[in-house]
Amino acid sequence: MQRLTKQFIDNHWVDSQATRRLTVTDPYRQETLAELTAGDAADVDAAVAAARRAQPDWQALGGERRAVYLEAFAEALTERREALMQLSARNNGKALAETAIDLDDAIACYRYYAGQARALEARQGRLVEHAMEGVEALTYEDPAGVVGLITPWNFPLVTSAWKIAPALAAGCTVVFKPSEVTPLPEQAVAEIALEIGLPSGVLNLVHGDGDGIGAPLTAHPGVDKLSFTGSNAVGEKVMRAAAEGSRGVSLELGGKSPILVLDDAEVEAAADWVMAGIYFNSGQICSATSRLIVDESLAEPLYAALASRIDAIRLGDPLADDTDMGPMTGARQRQAVERYLAIAAEESLTAVRDARHRELPNQGEFIAPTLYRDVPTDSRLWREEIFGPVLCARSVASEAEAVALANESAFGLAATVISGDAERAKRVGRALRAGSIWFNSEQLVMPEAGWGGFGISGIGRELGPWGLSAYLEVKHLIGPAG
Ligand code: NAD
Repeated sequence: MQRLTKQFIDNHWVDSQATRRLTVTDPYRQETLAELTAGDAADVDAAVAAARRAQPDWQALGGERRAVYLEAFAEALTERREALMQLSARNNGKALAETAIDLDDAIACYRYYAGQARALEARQGRLVEHAMEGVEALTYEDPAGVVGLITPWNFPLVTSAWKIAPALAAGCTVVFKPSEVTPLPEQAVAEIALEIGLPSGVLNLVHGDGDGIGAPLTAHPGVDKLSFTGSNAVGEKVMRAAAEGSRGVSLELGGKSPILVLDDAEVEAAADWVMAGIYFNSGQICSATSRLIVDESLAEPLYAALASRIDAIRLGDPLADDTDMGPMTGARQRQAVERYLAIAAEESLTAVRDARHRELPNQGEFIAPTLYRDVPTDSRLWREEIFGPVLCARSVASEAEAVALANESAFGLAATVISGDAERAKRVGRALRAGSIWFNSEQLVMPEAGWGGFGISGIGRELGPWGLSAYLEVKHLIGPAG
């Protein structure tokens, strides 16, 4: 068992004075992997002070030189790839293939923002085209300052890379709070900072939970901007904290994304996409396409095709090559999903496959993959994010009805359209209210394309040039020309 009693502040591992401890568990073996110090406000104060001291020099270094560090992050993650996959499989309960996606997307993100840091440097001081005679106007983009970054547990390496890489590229310095549920893979980010010689104080990592670290970090007047990924309930708290001092905030929150199977779709291919959209990572994906909206002409064959695929999912040890689906990431998340399954029973929802249809492995926090059909639109299972392997389906009589039903949600993170005609799928996709819309594909994410949601799925965008803008302040110098 590891003991994570230290915080990473100013390039030193320092003992937290906090005495509260949290345990980090392996959700398959149900054993303790590490004991974690639940840090407190004093740790946050020290980390913010270090980040403030480091910020001017990090900004002055310029985008070209910051890019070299970002590339070094990508290199170091690549070198540790196998070890981190194993660690993530143990801490998250992800099947190994899923940990590879988390890691590879994180590596691609650091590389992409190295390029963005260079591009930022190259465009500093560009002339503004305008109609005012004899006047010169120049545009600069400065870093927002010290940023507080908070991440969840479902894709620990990628959710942190989406924040840390653009923040560092922009010239911000960072106080990073990983999830207390999966601090082990996240710890690597601090180890790498030290290994690659990142200047002191540029990246600080403070371990702890929401009350101990999250709340003091979001309330800290020395933090200029906050970026949070997690649940809506906590996101709203973060936003309230940011209101104090009128500080900026970006939020990546939950989803209840639809997948539309149109009447011209090929059933077997559609079934494959539906499966990929909900059961991947045991359904613990913010962008899971958890509401299936199928044309009534295809509903019966599609449900049959899904039932046989669900039965073929192999649940088991995340470290085993023949495992398709690991356990939920911890007892708390298993219990949260079970509460929804109890509601399904109370509401007598019709199950194509319910949670009791199969034997579960005799250890681990498992939930069987489930599929409910004809779910009423006022059911909590249809409306709320479950964050587990629970698919809810309804059939519709037309394309227009499918679009209206898809858009009838407070969330708007992602959506998928499956059709035999790619042009039709794109046209329908354009009518949907979501940040990422996949046509005849699922869960494709690339650092060049933005990520984020409409409605209550969040505020702002990560990735792409938008992800960098979140950490920049635009300024203009204007005066007599020449
Ligand atoms: P969570 O909101 O419980 O926790 C997220 C983080 O916030 C953790 O680090 C936690 O310690 C911290 N936190 C808790 N209380 C806090 C407080 N008062 N102040 C500041 N920080 C606090 O979420 P979770 O259970 O870790 O993750 C699951 C949620 O994350 C789901 O809703 C999912 O949709 C969402 N998510 C969204 C995206 C996206 O890109 N939109 C990506 C991944 C996950």
